[in-house]
Amino acid sequence: MTARESTSTVARPLRMEVSGLQSLVAALWTAGYRVLGPTVGEGAIVYGEVRTIADLPAGYTDEQDAGHYRLRQRDDGALFGYNVGPHSLKRFLLPPRERLFTTIRTGKQLAVEPEPVPTEKLAFLGAKACELAALLTQDRVFSSDQHPDVQYLARRRGMFLVGVSCTKAGGSCFCTSMGTGPKVESGADLALTEVVTASEHYFLVEIKTAAGADLASQLPLRPATIDEQRQAELRIADAATQMGRHLSTVGLKELLARSTDSPHWDEVASRCLSCANCTLACPTCFCNTVEDVTDLAGDHSERWRRWDSCFHDDFSYLHGGSVRASVKSRYRQWLTHKLSTWIDQFGTSGCVGCGRCITFCPVGIDLTAECAALQARTT
Ligand code: SF4
Ligand code: SF4
Repeated sequence: MTARESTSTVARPLRMEVSGLQSLVAALWTAGYRVLGPTVGEGAIVYGEVRTIADLPAGYTDEQDAGHYRLRQRDDGALFGYNVGPHSLKRFLLPPRERLFTTIRTGKQLAVEPEPVPTEKLAFLGAKACELAALLTQDRVFSSDQHPDVQYLARRRGMFLVGVSCTKAGGSCFCTSMGTGPKVESGADLALTEVVTASEHYFLVEIKTAAGADLASQLPLRPATIDEQRQAELRIADAATQMGRHLSTVGLKELLARSTDSPHWDEVASRCLSCANCTLACPTCFCNTVEDVTDLAGDHSERWRRWDSCFHDDFSYLHGGSVRASVKSRYRQWLTHKLSTWIDQFGTSGCVGCGRCITFCPVGIDLTAECAALQARTT
């Protein structure tokens, strides 16, 4: 969803044929957006450019569990029949590496040239509910009055979001525990639900913003029947019963705050490689660092920002040593920030229940299991 306000009109859901989805993609390109959406690449479903709906992962799904991700073939032609992959919207709003400014020395003069503000308009097709929740979580970090991030906000303001509600849940998913899914309720300009039956393949379309209404007015849509709406709702309700993981959040914030000395941190640390995969895959983690590079003459230098992680030893390096020198202290910091102190800082949990940290942890460390173990120690 763009910075524009949500539409106050609660329009009746509409029905769109698969050919209408192609019209939607074409209309976004015509409106000047670069359209990104799910594609098959790198052995996974990752965001890539979508020129036509032939670029979408028709008939693919994913199999996920702790430390496990595999692409699988579905027995139908669903275009959005998968759960979240290793990429999130974070990599487009906060790129893994970006230049912030350049300095040029000419004689005794030093000129500082800030990086131009991004102007490219991005549209995302197929953002799942947890993905949209993660975007709103990152907005709170980068839109603060005290420290607004100019690059992030420029990209964010121009975005158009087409959300897709999940009609299946993955083995690592727990969005229902975090109240973020599986239905796309907000955060998108248009919300789709895909319905595939033995004889039909269509989308239920809900208009969420004025920008969404503008785009929808260009598409071949008709009001959905009650039965078509019910078919969509049934599939979302089904996904809600399939969550592979569950997190009990009752009292969790307080439990983590008083568990600083729990022996469980030593147990997790005996398995954790401190590789940082979980933080890089997480759609809300935002830690970054800056580094300066210069030419040998010292006439040209650049400052770059790149993703970093609280799992790196030197991330907490302060005048002579790392504040969090042990793996135990780094895992504790990550989990406690994510599920406890994030709430103090930003007013929400830092976790949306997407399950990426579970799936992409090489040793299968599972946030929900670690919290359950901490909870069990206090009962
Ligand atoms: S929890 Fe897993 S993914 Fe995260 S740093 Fe430890 S080993 Fe790596
Ligand atoms: S902590 Fe894990 S489950 Fe929660 S948002 Fe980050 S990657 Fe997803």
